Amino acid sequence: MSTITGKTSLVGLLGQPVNHSLSPIMHNAAYEEMGLDWCYVAFPCDTKNLKKVTTALRVINCKGLNVTIPHKQEVLKACNSLTAIANDIKAVNTLIPEKNNQWIGANTDVEGFLMPLKDKNLINKNAVVIGCGGSARAVAMGLNNLNVKKITILGRNETSLNIFVNNMKNILSKNNILIEGINHEKLNISAYIEEADLIINTTPIGMNRKTTEEKSIPLGRKIWDSLSKKTILYDLIYSPRPTNWLKLGAQSNCLTIDGLDMLVEQGALSIKLWSGFNDVPTETMKSSAKKHLMV
Ligand code: NAP
Repeated sequence: MSTITGKTSLVGLLGQPVNHSLSPIMHNAAYEEMGLDWCYVAFPCDTKNLKKVTTALRVINCKGLNVTIPHKQEVLKACNSLTAIANDIKAVNTLIPEKNNQWIGANTDVEGFLMPLKDKNLINKNAVVIGCGGSARAVAMGLNNLNVKKITILGRNETSLNIFVNNMKNILSKNNILIEGINHEKLNISAYIEEADLIINTTPIGMNRKTTEEKSIPLGRKIWDSLSKKTILYDLIYSPRPTNWLKLGAQSNCLTIDGLDMLVEQGALSIKLWSGFNDVPTETMKSSAKKHLMV
């Protein structure tokens, strides 16, 4: 990283936890190559402090913020306006400074999610999404763009599940895409897993390296015995790489995708929105992140 001086501008990430995040590594590598005198820092932030922290950072002229687990919906309250996608899915991962010390809420996760799927034909296919939080909303919007036939959302909290499905139904019905929410703690979900063409994990299960193997696999180990090799497994988690869930998928000869390409793409799009520059060195971002994962 270049020397931090009195002229260096601050950009950063708000979430809880953030100590696993590769964003500082890949963002600072990109700024160096782009000649931007910016410094990207990950700030742990509790939900109760989110509004205060975003307001304070805007006042001290922070050039942009990313928002991660668990704040992507809560942060809407800190936005003065939203981009069309962020408004459609009611989830924000990027804050762009605007006049009068305000923030615009944007979402670059949708395009980031689609990046590793760009060569796949998923028209009329069945998709299963595990989790119904902030990034699951971006995933459902991405699946809308891919014209899948049906999206099944698996969640454990029926209130969040219902709000999610009702919100997304309006958007997806325009494309004749079916969506249903299933409480996986109450119903048998084997048939959904067996029939799925694409399964996406949007929960943090698998991120914690210190937990047992059973607890590191979304929905538990047993359900994956019925996995078919035609199914693509996509884990939004990028550290560890691969997760135990993706290892299990590879053992069943499934195509597996981790969250690194998504991370790089959504980060590069955030830099474009903050800087106005179109050329962002995504290869440098990816190689710096990969190098750090190997340490
Ligand atoms: P979030 O808004 O907090 O949503 C997390 C979802 O997972 C919620 O539906 C939550 O359910 C569920 N969940 C959490 N722990 C669970 C458990 N033990 N069992 C069952 N469900 C559980 O978080 P997010 O922002 O969507 O992020 C989720 C994950 O995606 C994180 O690991 C994040 O790093 C990753 N991600 C990666 C990228 C990338 O670029 N690769 C981008 C976005 C997100 P409850 O509401 O019931 O707690």
